[in-house]
Amino acid sequence: MNLEPHAGPAAALDRVDVERVRRDFPILQQRIRDRPLVYLDNAATTQKPLTVIYALQRYYTAENANIHRGVHFLSQQGTFAYERSRARLRQFINAGDNREVIFVRGTTEAINLVAQSWGRRFLRPGDEIVLSHLEHHANIVPWQMIAAEREARIRVASIDDQGGFRFDEYEKLLNERTRMVAVTHASNALGTVLPVKEITAAAHRWGARVLIDGAQSVPHLAVDVRDLDCDFYAFSGHKVFGPTGVGVLYGKEAVLEEMPPYQTGGEMIRSVSFDKTTFNELPHKFEAGTPHIAGGIAMEAAVDYVNALGRARIEAYEAQLLVYGTEVLSQVPGLRLLGTAASKVGVLSFTLDAAHPHDIGTILDTEGIAIRTGHHCAQPVMQRFGVPATARASLAFYNTREELDALASALRKVNEVFR
Ligand code: PLP
Repeated sequence: MNLEPHAGPAAALDRVDVERVRRDFPILQQRIRDRPLVYLDNAATTQKPLTVIYALQRYYTAENANIHRGVHFLSQQGTFAYERSRARLRQFINAGDNREVIFVRGTTEAINLVAQSWGRRFLRPGDEIVLSHLEHHANIVPWQMIAAEREARIRVASIDDQGGFRFDEYEKLLNERTRMVAVTHASNALGTVLPVKEITAAAHRWGARVLIDGAQSVPHLAVDVRDLDCDFYAFSGHKVFGPTGVGVLYGKEAVLEEMPPYQTGGEMIRSVSFDKTTFNELPHKFEAGTPHIAGGIAMEAAVDYVNALGRARIEAYEAQLLVYGTEVLSQVPGLRLLGTAASKVGVLSFTLDAAHPHDIGTILDTEGIAIRTGHHCAQPVMQRFGVPATARASLAFYNTREELDALASALRKVNEVFR
């Protein structure tokens, strides 16, 4: 396979040159079970464009060396590329300084870092942490752990029957004991987009810190952390067309400065003796050990790809796809859509009267259609809707109406199988 990147992504998704975009994603050219692959599991992970694949290949073929410490050519080149990628990621989310962009393994590690480092330093018995009912387990369990340790209490902002965030109910939870509000920007289970700017402003009025889980928003929406004014923002590279094993924690510099290191060892120190260790400056204070260098570097290619397509165009195209997908799925007999909030990213979560979600997933797989079934690591959402699981089709800018037609027609076949 030729891994040389070509001129870059198709220029204009508003002219819907999706076929050209798809050519940048070799995996989408495959046939699965003798059918063209219909990949609708983008909330789990996204596919990678050639530019990202090539960045990884180039690193291991010609550039591999450990970074930050070496004086030799490859080490310096690697350090430069890694730090340039950090700067690009800073621009991507409009953070104010590269020191505010911490490379982590992904959203999960970012949230654990904040819960453990910030939580241990600042939570006191009786303090409250506010979450929403829409959270992924990654934004629940770390808070439960630290709350138990620090004798703090978790409070949960409710959602309505459409899966919308109930802002009025959320505001009632805030008080002088609220120390942290940790909410998702977009729900992986339902697609609901939360009003995170307003959520942040309300929390700040009570002096609380705010963490936003951006795992499902960064791939779909333009994110400006300074406009949101959040204290922390977390996302995963693999959900935004980059590699697995790398992600970003944004934190306001002043807040990060107050926090102790999360993990310790090499990289995060300035000096070590058996009497005393001093810590490195930001962001390295939070980056113990050798990082995922190739992944960090390839994130620049991922971000460049998204920027070249244009985030506004991506948003507009995906919004059209979501409307279309909602329409075609609504016409499938016995199909119930969960999550119909006014503001959504491209997630279509549903049940079929005729079949269990796992059976739906298995039958769709025989047609080459990849969707996700289960609780989506969001069991409280399933409990709220009284279902053990859903089937979920999740969209990216390389998906097409034809693929949604294929999904709907395969679901009709599922109905026939179980009639
Ligand atoms: N938060 C949300 C909303 C997610 O959808 C996911 C993954 O699906 C995560 C957090 C965890 O992301 P990761 O597994 O990349 O750490």
